[in-house]
Amino acid sequence: MNQTTTDTYTERLAVTLPAVRERIERAEWASARTPGSVRLIAVTKSHPFEAVEAALAAGLSDLGENRVEELELKVGTFGPDAATWHMIGHLQSRKAPRAAAVSDLIHSVDSLRLAEKLARVAIEEGRVLRVLAQVNTSGEGSKSGFSPAQADDEIARMAELPGLMVDGLMTMAPFVDDEAVLAAAFGGLRELSVRLRAATQRIGPELSMGMTNDLEIAIREGSTMVRIGTALFGERGSAT
Ligand SMILES: *Cc1c(COP(=O)(O)O)cnc(C)c1O
Repeated sequence: MNQTTTDTYTERLAVTLPAVRERIERAEWASARTPGSVRLIAVTKSHPFEAVEAALAAGLSDLGENRVEELELKVGTFGPDAATWHMIGHLQSRKAPRAAAVSDLIHSVDSLRLAEKLARVAIEEGRVLRVLAQVNTSGEGSKSGFSPAQADDEIARMAELPGLMVDGLMTMAPFVDDEAVLAAAFGGLRELSVRLRAATQRIGPELSMGMTNDLEIAIREGSTMVRIGTALFGERGSAT
């Protein structure tokens, strides 16, 4: 690995990581959330191995990738035990076995079809896969996820699949600045979680929501995991 590049990321994280942690702590405090109740997932997607190396050295232990190929390369390089590895991007059914092999938690299970495929893989391999159900809370056609109209029914069915452990829900907010719109998307996911968990004990309490631009609103609305890339590692494509 390139030492210069690793140093660049290390120097950057020395500034950005305390700043992100402070944003999270302030947001927890502002909404009377328990300090430390929001987990920081560092999104290293499209950043090189050196970013991962610097992140691990800085004590970041939850790392997220949005493409299976890149996740495989990074897990292959650093090892499955180096971090808790999160798959956060859209996953094609045919890549389910590969994602299952390298992910500790798959956030992006966005259809019953994909859930069933992952469940089959888990059963064949005699294991249990931890997953989240991704919900398209904004209803935007461009976003993947269970549609709000079908989410109650379909996610309840997903939770019955043997081989899967549904730890909770995930969403991506629409790309807008309007706080009310963002709050409605995140609040909608929280309300869905409350409804589902009243109906079944097979769905856990995790709410994966909040990115660089909206983490405060997400935490206010009950996020338990924020997925942060840009605020930690800089703009993608101009990393170093
Ligand atoms: C890229 C990505 C993130 C991180 O976004 P930033 O705005 O860079 O913090 C979070 N979640 C998903 C699903 C992503 O693809």
